[in-house]
Amino acid sequence: MKWKLRKCVFDGTYTFEEKCPKCGRPTVVPHPPRFSPEDKYVKYRLEVKKGRKFNC
Ligand SMILES: [Zn+2]
Repeated sequence: MKWKLRKCVFDGTYTFEEKCPKCGRPTVVPHPPRFSPEDKYVKYRLEVKKGRKFNC
């Protein structure tokens, strides 16, 4: 895997280029969620947004 799939955060276009073919903005390499230490915190924030309570 020499080429990493990149993503335009502006319009969500996936590309191998460093610039988005649609809007010309710089693209980023999205990190797999399982390797992201922030993932659980993101989920926690989403649950909070839904108004759920954590009673466990
Ligand atoms: Zn774009």
